[in-house]
Amino acid sequence: MVRVLIEQIETYAKENKVPIMLPDGICFLEKYIKEHQVKKILELGTAIGYSAIRMALVSKDIQIVTIERDKERYQKAIENIQKAELQNQIQVFNQDIMDFETKEQFDLIFIDAAKSQYIKFFEKFSSNLISGGTIISDNLNFHGYTKQETKIESKNLRQMVGKIRNYIEFLKENKEFKTTFLELGDGIGISVKL
Ligand code: SAM
Repeated sequence: MVRVLIEQIETYAKENKVPIMLPDGICFLEKYIKEHQVKKILELGTAIGYSAIRMALVSKDIQIVTIERDKERYQKAIENIQKAELQNQIQVFNQDIMDFETKEQFDLIFIDAAKSQYIKFFEKFSSNLISGGTIISDNLNFHGYTKQETKIESKNLRQMVGKIRNYIEFLKENKEFKTTFLELGDGIGISVKL
């Protein structure tokens, strides 16, 4: 039953150009959550609830807080979460991530929102992560552009790619976290708090 819903969300995302995690990225995330017995997740960037639903389905013990600023996507996420009967596991907030405040501690923070703000997001919420906890960042390859050696013509795209490259450097140099980069989905960073 929920499998059908997941397929419907995937189709809706494709038809309405809503970016959701790629298949091998979300499979990796599910596996990571299971193997590390993750129980509390903060997700930055809900879109229509696809990744939150898939993460919550890993185990009934998992609690997820997720944030989305776009009203229409937020409403669609609420609708999908209700259809999946996961309201008791997933809490969605309709606001900008930078305005969201919490004192809660999480085992895992999943960053999947505006790429230009990844460093800010990381710094804002790293104190909400337990020691030994993980921050997972998606889209670090940005469709292959972050590794492109030739000059990118579009100025906007060049700036965006520059910001992601800065974030990758920030992760490599961060002494409080150990980051591993994986060529999965659109490029994933796994940063473990030391
Ligand atoms: N995690 C989702 C999934 O795989 O199903 C996909 C999230 S999508 C890639 C990124 C979402 O983050 C977009 O829906 C966008 O509106 C939202 N977003 C981007 N920057 C944000 C911000 N500063 N505050 C809140 N939401 C933001």
